[in-house]
Amino acid sequence: MSLHPIEPYHCVHGGEARIDCVLCGKCLTVCPLFHSTKREELSPKAKFHLLRALGEDGAALREKPAVRLAGLCLSCGKCEKACPRGLCVPDLLGRARARHPGWRAFVWKHWVARAGLLWPMAASLSRALPAPLFPGALGAMMGSLAALDGKNVLTPWLRVVSLEKRGAGEKVAVFPGCTAAHAHKDWLAKAMRLLAGMGFDPVVPDFACCGCTLGHAGLQGEQKRMRLANVAAWRAAGRPKLVAFCATCRCGLKSYAGADLGWRAGEQDAWAMAQTALSGLMEGARFEVLDNAPRSVVYHKPCHGSGDGGDLRMLRQAAGERLIYKEGQSLCCGFGGLLQLGAPELSQRVAGSALAFYAVKPGDQIVTGCSGCTVQFKANVPEGVGAGHWLEIVSA
Ligand code: SF4
Ligand code: SF4
Repeated sequence: MSLHPIEPYHCVHGGEARIDCVLCGKCLTVCPLFHSTKREELSPKAKFHLLRALGEDGAALREKPAVRLAGLCLSCGKCEKACPRGLCVPDLLGRARARHPGWRAFVWKHWVARAGLLWPMAASLSRALPAPLFPGALGAMMGSLAALDGKNVLTPWLRVVSLEKRGAGEKVAVFPGCTAAHAHKDWLAKAMRLLAGMGFDPVVPDFACCGCTLGHAGLQGEQKRMRLANVAAWRAAGRPKLVAFCATCRCGLKSYAGADLGWRAGEQDAWAMAQTALSGLMEGARFEVLDNAPRSVVYHKPCHGSGDGGDLRMLRQAAGERLIYKEGQSLCCGFGGLLQLGAPELSQRVAGSALAFYAVKPGDQIVTGCSGCTVQFKANVPEGVGAGHWLEIVSA
């Protein structure tokens, strides 16, 4: 069976790519997994050639271990942005996984589809059985479960003084994403209050998961089902602005416009235009820094295609000089979705590289605007360092 799609394809992150590597090595300089491990077999270039070899001469390679090796990827999308050929390893791997569904994809499917039931249970379990009780990879997984605990949040230290009234009663649909819908519900409550404070009429239609990580896991059928449910919910709400506060969700939602989802006339453009970042709407907001503010706060910019959506600009205005932003081309939190199940130790290692780069000290905080990055940093920061979504530090 060939694993190598030879025709041009539409990448999940947008755009069309043709599968041919020119060995330029540009992807090596940005891949966080390669940067953290120095293992060339984990680089995007190696994964591409491995998948091609499997497709051309499956008999020459032991397929199962090769597919596992090729699957060690964070789905951060940095390689696609660096590659002159637009080669997108997460998309290639999603296709390979779709042909070889394994237990990890099966677990991930149920983990996402039954998030409302499983995530609160997992958070309770992690309270009863804290991560330090477990060795190695199991401890890493328990740490991630503890990060889903809705009580594990930062104490607010940015008080909203005023918000620009830009809504004039306009209805907006809030897309909470799985983490705010099932674990950190305070994020959603704050987003609703902020939008109401700006004069919008925020509603939460019956949205499903954005489907982003499902596609990377090779669960394209499940991904399409969730995408269709989200488009139907948006349509039923009257096709309003779609406000999200997670970079991965925004990336996932943005990719719908290029997919076959039974769109009606003009809807694809309307969907693309509707995508709105919460922080982008908050331009002009005024904040007061409270006495409990940390000495320094690192802003971590999420990898995913939609970037920070205005988070950094807003936080810089709000927090002033205590906000630190450092760029690094291979910087990634290391969350990696499916990698949490397959190789949590690699995920931890990438997080460790990012934390070393940021050089955080006890008393500092890391804030970000992505659910996955938030969970990953909550699970991996050193003792005394806080981590959370930027909504946690805002008092609203
Ligand atoms: S998606 Fe990220 S981790 Fe995966 S191969 Fe590309 S750069 Fe490396
Ligand atoms: S950047 Fe693209 S073309 Fe260059 S080595 Fe990496 S995969 Fe090949």
